[in-house]
Amino acid sequence: MGRSRSLTAAEQHRICQHECKARCCRYITIKIPAPKVKADFDEISWFLAHRDISVYVESRFWHVEVRNRCKYLTRSNLCSTYENRPDVCRNYDVEACEYPARPKHTLQFDTKEDFDAWWARKRERERRRRKQRRLAAKKRSSSAPKR
Ligand code: SF4
Ligand code: SF4
Repeated sequence: MGRSRSLTAAEQHRICQHECKARCCRYITIKIPAPKVKADFDEISWFLAHRDISVYVESRFWHVEVRNRCKYLTRSNLCSTYENRPDVCRNYDVEACEYPARPKHTLQFDTKEDFDAWWARKRERERRRRKQRRLAAKKRSSSAPKR
């Protein structure tokens, strides 16, 4: 969530270290292709069978989130490789980061069960849509004038 005014470096530092406790150093996210076929759905279900994994959709892009703290994060929530930290950390926008509120995603799955239930509902909706399309096509062909 973005903040209403620019923070000084000292304020940012205090928030990151003491209030937020370095939330963004405790997970990684990886973009994954949007699932299209059964094997894709099955793979996501498998991801979610593991501990500390979530899958979410943000702006139509699918991601897997792996909650695992960075090994350079110290017990006092500081970066022990600050001068050599990766660009992804360097470029992270602390003015628009996720603290204090976690972002709301279009879809969020924290368990395999949630995902499997969503997938089952999605398949059922698609099955009904296909059936309706078939019925509509049949109706159109039966009402077309015979030559
Ligand atoms: S999530 Fe934001 S406030 Fe928290 S440590 Fe990262 S940059 Fe700082
Ligand atoms: S390298 Fe440093 S800034 Fe980057 S995630 Fe690890 S502890 Fe955080």
